[in-house]
Amino acid sequence: MSGRADELFRGVVCPECRCELVVHTEQLVCTGVECRLQFAIENGIPHLLADSAQRLAEAEWKTAVQRTGSAAERAK
Ligand SMILES: [Zn+2]
Repeated sequence: MSGRADELFRGVVCPECRCELVVHTEQLVCTGVECRLQFAIENGIPHLLADSAQRLAEAEWKTAVQRTGSAAERAK
């Protein structure tokens, strides 16, 4: 275990659309372009509730998703 957050949450999917989530600045961001929900991580525990999630603007979402890269791409 590397302890890296993006490894830690691998396989965790968005409760709203079931897309993969990526870690971006202490948040989990949904990779679904239609969805773009951002979930807070508190004390290492992600709040995977659509109710407490924030919907990112498309530009912001793109930055978040690009930065971490797609785990699906890397897993090939
Ligand atoms: Zn989603």
